[in-house]
Amino acid sequence: MRDVRVDPWLGTMVHVVASRQHRPNLPATSCPFCVGGLEAPDPYTVKVIPNRWPPMPDERCEVALYASDHRARLATLEPDHLATLIDTWALRTDALGSRNDVDYVLIFENSGREVGATIDHPHGQIYAFDHVPDRPRRRLAAGWKPDPTSDRLIVERNGWAATVPAASPYPLAIEIAPVERVADLVSLDASQRRGFGDVLQDVLGRIERIHGEPAPTMMWFNQRPTMSNQRSQEIDGYSDAWFNVEIVSPWRAPHVMRYIAAAEVATNEFFIPVVPEDLAATLRDAAPA
Ligand SMILES: [Zn+2]
Repeated sequence: MRDVRVDPWLGTMVHVVASRQHRPNLPATSCPFCVGGLEAPDPYTVKVIPNRWPPMPDERCEVALYASDHRARLATLEPDHLATLIDTWALRTDALGSRNDVDYVLIFENSGREVGATIDHPHGQIYAFDHVPDRPRRRLAAGWKPDPTSDRLIVERNGWAATVPAASPYPLAIEIAPVERVADLVSLDASQRRGFGDVLQDVLGRIERIHGEPAPTMMWFNQRPTMSNQRSQEIDGYSDAWFNVEIVSPWRAPHVMRYIAAAEVATNEFFIPVVPEDLAATLRDAAPA
């Protein structure tokens, strides 16, 4: 059953999913994603499974298992393994996006307990929306594109740039995008996918080095909406969509959380203790050895 409420004053969409109150906070015993576990009885390299506690109905929610090794990490997967994962993300974007009842495929990851990950095994998620959610819609309409010439550039290589965004509410925020416009994962050729994987791991390594350990992060992919060509005319900026990935962390120092506080929630304006250009310089200096 689908129960979506819309704030009558702000237009904010709220999916009411009472069933998720009953899901286990943490698996009681063994890891469900390890080989032989509840969700992965057989050996695998990369595996996509339905979300057992889907926040939306109609098979719109999937879990992507990055590796069978419980201690594997996205930052250090072997290049061939990472290429398989990126191909899998593209395949699921294509398969879900081909459905008539899917307008937007969101690939994302919560990594670390402090951002709500309930299982440590390396994994991400995929949501297939029947509409284009507000934030990606606004970025599209604004004509988002990378800004690799700025003093917020972290690294540019193999046709990909990583930058610190101009005004993030998070104390650590990074955007990764191809220097030449590509609309979505599906449109990347094999060499572009390698370049993407390379810069993604480069950036994750820098985050780890500035904190001395893996920090909790949230990551999501901004892709072109997937509705049919005719309906895409309704989406401002559709034909200029520029694939990009955002990675943010709530840590402002190792194990020091920055909480978004009342004045910020009240106003949707933010007071951030980090100068974006300084963060970019710190991340530039944290280059791989
Ligand atoms: Zn596991």
